[in-house]
Amino acid sequence: MEIKKIPRFRFAPSPTGGLHVGTARTALFNWLAARSMKGKLILRIEDTDAKRSSIAYEKSIIGDLKWLGLDWDEFYRQSERIKIYQKRAFQLLDEDKAYRCFCSPERLENLKESQYAAGKMSQYDGLCRKLDNTEVEKKLKDGVPFAIRFKVADDTEITFHDLIRGDISFSSEVLGDFIIIKSDGTPSYNFAVVVDDEDMKITHVLRGEDHITNTARQILLFESLGSDLPSFAHFSMILGSDGSKLSKRHGATTISQFREEGYLAEALANYLSLLSWAPGEGQEIFGPADILDKFNISHISKSPATFDVDKLNWINGIYIRKKSDKELAELCIPYLLSEKIIDKKGTENEKIMGKILKGINAFKDNLKVLGDFSLYMKDFFKEKIMEYSSEAEEILKLESSKAVLKNFLELLESEWKSFDNNPDMDFNEDQGKKLINKIGENLKDLKIKGKYLYMPIRVSITGKTHGPELPKVISILGLENCIQRVSQTLEYIKNNKL
Ligand code: GLU
Repeated sequence: MEIKKIPRFRFAPSPTGGLHVGTARTALFNWLAARSMKGKLILRIEDTDAKRSSIAYEKSIIGDLKWLGLDWDEFYRQSERIKIYQKRAFQLLDEDKAYRCFCSPERLENLKESQYAAGKMSQYDGLCRKLDNTEVEKKLKDGVPFAIRFKVADDTEITFHDLIRGDISFSSEVLGDFIIIKSDGTPSYNFAVVVDDEDMKITHVLRGEDHITNTARQILLFESLGSDLPSFAHFSMILGSDGSKLSKRHGATTISQFREEGYLAEALANYLSLLSWAPGEGQEIFGPADILDKFNISHISKSPATFDVDKLNWINGIYIRKKSDKELAELCIPYLLSEKIIDKKGTENEKIMGKILKGINAFKDNLKVLGDFSLYMKDFFKEKIMEYSSEAEEILKLESSKAVLKNFLELLESEWKSFDNNPDMDFNEDQGKKLINKIGENLKDLKIKGKYLYMPIRVSITGKTHGPELPKVISILGLENCIQRVSQTLEYIKNNKL
C-alpha cells in the first residue's frame, strides 16, 4: 500500500527589507496550496547574510504575514543552523563532490572583469579544482582562508517539470562550480535552501520565476546529497502598470506601506490572490479561506500579472463598506491622531467621537483607503473656514445668497436657543434636513430655490461648492459651529464688499 506523503510547503523570506507585495503573494500562494491540500506550511527566515539581515525586518515581515491572516505550522531561522550546513558541506568534500577554493576576492574580481571584457559569461575557471592534496594541505597549514565549491559536472542537462511552466532544462555549462560555504563559514543561499528543503521534508517549492536558474543549481545539490527532488513551481513576476517590474517607482510596494495608507488586510489578501490566479465564474470578492476548495497550483497563470491599483482600490472600498460605522471609526482614528486632527484626549470625548461617527456615515462611500478619512474630516474639526474657493465666492456675490444666509443664521440661532445653548446637545441629520426645508419655505415668495438655495448654505459652512449631503454636513459640524461659520461668512461678504 502506498503511503501518501503529507504535502509540506515553505515560505522563505530574507529579512533584508520589509515584506514586498511579490513576496507576500508567494507567501499567500504557499499558504493557499498548503491549506487546500491539507498540508503543512513552514516559515523559514533566510538570514545567513548577517550584514543585510536584521531582526527588525524579521519582526516586520512576521507582523505583516499575520496581519494578512496567514499562519504556519513550523518556524526556523537559518542563522541558527549554520553548523548543519557546514557538516553537510564537509560531507560533500569527503565524497569529492566539492573542493576547497583558496582564491582571493581580488583574483575572483579580476577573473570576472576579464571574462566580462572578453564578452564571456562570468563563472569560476576551476583553478582550485586542480589542486592536489599536498597543495591543499600546505595552504591549510599557512592559514589561507577558503570557501567550499560544488563540483558541477560538465555537459550535463538538468531537466525538471515545473507545475506552472511545464518542462524546463538547463545545460550545466552555464553554471560553473559555485560556492556552497563562503570563506566566513556561512552557507550560500542555494546550499542552505537545499539542505533545509531536504531536512524539513519539503515536498513543494513554490516561488517567483526569478529563482528558476537557482533551481538548476539546487537540483544538482539535491542529487549530490542523495535526496528526492521536491516539486517545483515558479510564478511570474508582478509588473507595474507600465509593464516594467513592479518597483518603488510605481508607488507603494511593501505590505507595511499599503497598511499605512489604509488598505484593509482582507482587501489586500483578496487582491493578491487574484494576481495570476482566479477562482473562476467571475468570483472576485473572497477571503483566502473561502476558496480553498478551488485553489490549484496548476491553474496559476504563466503570464505576468499587472498590479492594478484601481482594482485594489475598488476591492478595498468594498471591504470598507462591509464594516460597521463603529468598526470603521476605530480603524480611522489612528489616521486622525497621526494627522493631529484630534489628540488622544479627543478619543475619550463623546462629542468628538460622535462627530467622527457622523463623518464615517457621510464619507464611507467615498473612501478608497482609510487614510482618505482625515482628508475629508480635517476641515470639520476647525472652528473657522480657512478659505473660500473661487466658485464659492461667485455664489456669495449673488444677492439671493445674502437672503438665504440671513435666514439660515436666524433659524440656526433659534434652534440653538431651544437647545438651551447646550453645546452637548446633538443636532442630527433629520433635524438638519428640516431646517433646510424651512429656509426653502421662508424664501418661497422670493422664488429662491434649488441651487440658489443649497449652494449658499453649503458655501457658508464649508467654503466649498462640493461635499457630502448638506444635512450630514450640518449635523457633523453641530449647531454652534454652524452659527460661527455662517457669521464668519456674512462678515466675509461685508468686508470684501461681495
Ligand atoms: N530567501 C529567498 C528570497 O527571499 C527565497 C528562497 C526560496 O524561496 O527558495 O528570495
